[in-house]
Amino acid sequence: MMKALQYRRVGRAPEVVEIPKPEPGPGQVLVKVTAAGLCHSDLAVMGWPEDQFPYALPMTLGHEGVGTVAALGAGVTGVSEGEAVAVYGPWGCGGCHSCAEGKENCCPHAAGLGILPPGLGSPGALAEYVLVDSPRHLVPLHGLDPLQAAPLTDAGLTPYHAIRRSLPKLLPGSTAVVIGVGGLGHLAVQLLRALSPARVVALDVSKEKLGLAAEMGAHETLLSDGEAAARIRELTGGTGAEVVLDFVGAGTTLAVAAASVAVAGDVTVVGLGGGTLAVGFGGGLPFEVSACFPYWGSRTELMEVLELARQGHVSCHVEIFTLEQAPEAYERLHAGEINGRAVVLPHA
Ligand code: NAD
Ligand code: ZN
Repeated sequence: MMKALQYRRVGRAPEVVEIPKPEPGPGQVLVKVTAAGLCHSDLAVMGWPEDQFPYALPMTLGHEGVGTVAALGAGVTGVSEGEAVAVYGPWGCGGCHSCAEGKENCCPHAAGLGILPPGLGSPGALAEYVLVDSPRHLVPLHGLDPLQAAPLTDAGLTPYHAIRRSLPKLLPGSTAVVIGVGGLGHLAVQLLRALSPARVVALDVSKEKLGLAAEMGAHETLLSDGEAAARIRELTGGTGAEVVLDFVGAGTTLAVAAASVAVAGDVTVVGLGGGTLAVGFGGGLPFEVSACFPYWGSRTELMEVLELARQGHVSCHVEIFTLEQAPEAYERLHAGEINGRAVVLPHA
């Protein structure tokens, strides 16, 4: 048996329960979880109404996991027992063009084949053990601290993927705006600093989060209010920001994004805040703006973001919890009280 944090009934808080320890079937790998991060997306999932809930319940949560290889299913090669690994979450079919490029987050077949990420449909990493469907979805840590690596599998990978698409626009003299300096946002600030010469402007509703943004290398920090777009225009001599990354995605923050992006800039909506952006003539965006709502990242991008951490370019600000404390940690995340990322140690 093992302990796991499960979302069991729609609308109820998740609970720590005892469930059978899984056995790896052919091709699968069992990972003993060292650390697992808590993502705001889990709160979005736990907020969905029953008639629209897409996954089977009970469901073990946790889509940011690292651990050590505990057992190999029949036929598995390329990983060995005891090896420290990060779990790549957006599992694809493995055989299509996207997957061959490592872009399993864009696999067009996964949903149809019922292939779901751990913690988002498949049993997740907020447990003592997690089953991984293929060794392809494991990336060696090569000495990286597991506490750091766990959040990087989503809170690091997702902004890395989002920022990479905009790198050609992040030149000396450019401005990048980060809206929402939480788990993803505080890593986005560091990634922007590591990958580009752009000036970084961070927005949040919390002064504490803005303090963290400044510590992480943001050049300017602004309260996210009705004045924010005008302040960004001012800071950019009227032209606006070349790149706006919205880690909230609410109607209000998207309005700030639309009002502060430059002509031919990028608006990237990462947050699941439920807002939408009108794209088209008459929609209010400057000409030539490109908008995108990216999903997670590719396998090679996960390797790259782990390498950036090994080189010391990014480090996650973490708050540590036991599995028993995880429900309370989700409550604190919901209340906006986690600075950086909440990370659970299931064996603590
Ligand atoms: P988080 O709770 O750690 O951080 C959210 C931050 O936004 C907090 O600092 C909060 O103070 C701030 N905030 C809230 N309202 C704001 C406002 N109006 N203006 C400015 N800041 C505001 O959340 P997280 O785990 O970093 O996730 C961020 C978002 O990204 C969530 O919506 C999550 O679901 C989403 N997400 C998307 C993907 C993807 O693949 N697209 C992947 C992971 C997470
Ligand atoms: Zn996530």
